[in-house]
Amino acid sequence: MSTPPSYIILGSGVFGASTALHLIRRHRSASITLVDRDAYTATHRVAASWDWNKVIRADYDDLTYTKLALEAQRLWRADPIWRPFYHQSGVVWITPGTSFAKDVRDNHAALGVEEADLGVYEVPEARGMYGGLFGGADYSGVGEVLVNRGSGWAEAKEALQKTIEEAVGLGVRYVVAEVEKVKFEEVDGRRRATGVLTADGREMLADRVVLCTGAYTAKLLVDSAPDWTELHAGKRILAVGVTEATSPVSEMEKLGLDTMPVGINENPVERGEDVGCLPLPGLGAVKCWGQIHLKNTVPHPITKQPMSIPPMQRDYAQWEVSPVLQEDVQWALKSLFGDEKASLKKMENYRICWDAWTPTGDFIISPHSACDGLFVATCGSFHGFKFLPVIGKYVVQMLSGELDPALQERWAWDRERPTIDDDGKGARRELKDFPL
Ligand SMILES: Cc1cc2nc3c(=O)[nH]c(=O)nc-3n(C[C@H](O)[C@H](O)[C@H](O)COP(=O)(O)OP(=O)(O)OC[C@H]3O[C@@H](n4cnc5c(N)ncnc54)[C@H](O)[C@@H]3O)c2cc1C
Repeated sequence: MSTPPSYIILGSGVFGASTALHLIRRHRSASITLVDRDAYTATHRVAASWDWNKVIRADYDDLTYTKLALEAQRLWRADPIWRPFYHQSGVVWITPGTSFAKDVRDNHAALGVEEADLGVYEVPEARGMYGGLFGGADYSGVGEVLVNRGSGWAEAKEALQKTIEEAVGLGVRYVVAEVEKVKFEEVDGRRRATGVLTADGREMLADRVVLCTGAYTAKLLVDSAPDWTELHAGKRILAVGVTEATSPVSEMEKLGLDTMPVGINENPVERGEDVGCLPLPGLGAVKCWGQIHLKNTVPHPITKQPMSIPPMQRDYAQWEVSPVLQEDVQWALKSLFGDEKASLKKMENYRICWDAWTPTGDFIISPHSACDGLFVATCGSFHGFKFLPVIGKYVVQMLSGELDPALQERWAWDRERPTIDDDGKGARRELKDFPL
């Protein structure tokens, strides 16, 4: 039997962790090294995947992601690795002026999924649900409210850590290192990746290098070969940040916290993207995210080309949040619970969470077309976490050349895409416009 290739998976967020687990399950004797600047047990990490909690839902207006999310959700519910961290609280969707509710139902029906969990309600009825929890929400322009009782949330950092522990238990080597560059060699006029070079001078070699580097991906590619423009991400990937924070809840409110549904509201639409709020019983709090999507466009230190990258500090300066961005998260409380309740609540643990975003919201799970032995598996585009139990399976299929052609095309490094400049939504603001 031939020896399986050796792998370096760089980045231990959702994409890297899930890939490591699925890869070692498939190739038990393979040398697989998972590298990250942070230990997987660290109390805080820069990974977008490191978080107090994340929404787990199969509510998509897109059939492919509905199917994938349903597959993931089955494992969140049933698999001993993920089940302890999953809470099926339901999700309430306040989506003005869209056909989202209908599209979600159509997708579930098309996939033959039992619709018992899905409900669509007129606004007055929605206001009264869950004891009137979202009675004061901003329902401007909303026709129907979608409630999916089969969706919920997960304890994100715990589930991520457990996934990595499983992979390590099966033989994956975990290395804490800041990677400075991907290394290459030239063979017959074509370059191939041979490993990575760390900031403290270590060289790690492997047959295949898989970049699961989230918001840092575009910068790492330029750092690795500043003059080799075919290697660079260009307009494929943008680092985008969103502010989140936690809000402690009172003793009275704590009573209902365990069973509180996730709330998502796209109002007020003129402020940006959707806001959300989800329970965090372990901390006696809720977590919210804001509406402003941020770029951080700066000249690359070597090429001077402008690109959006996470702030240069070791921790992406993720805990340094301007008052205006703090207020942006406070808006989540207003949008979902109304002015009166929101004004009573204080918020803490403000964080700007950076993700890799593509103009269509599709992941990149693909060989790099300019470089042999180099693969990219990231770009969660603000919806990647829920796929933790399954996304690695698809990355392994990609690595083995077995990925379904439709997914290959959709997640390709080179694909038709609207440009970042004229997609018309998201990531419109610059971090520099929000001074501390
Ligand atoms: C505020 C916010 C809320 C979200 N909520 C949800 C949600 O509710 N549900 C959902 O499904 N999705 C959600 N998402 C999206 C989801 O979190 C991301 O899409 C997903 O976690 C991205 O995973 P990743 O593995 O690509 O990147 P990351 O999780 O960012 O991991 C990348 C890893 O690479 C490492 N790395 C990068 N460069 C280097 C280097 N040079 N050397 C060493 N290590 C390196 C980093 O340290 C990091 O650990 C949310 C995102 C944000 C920002």
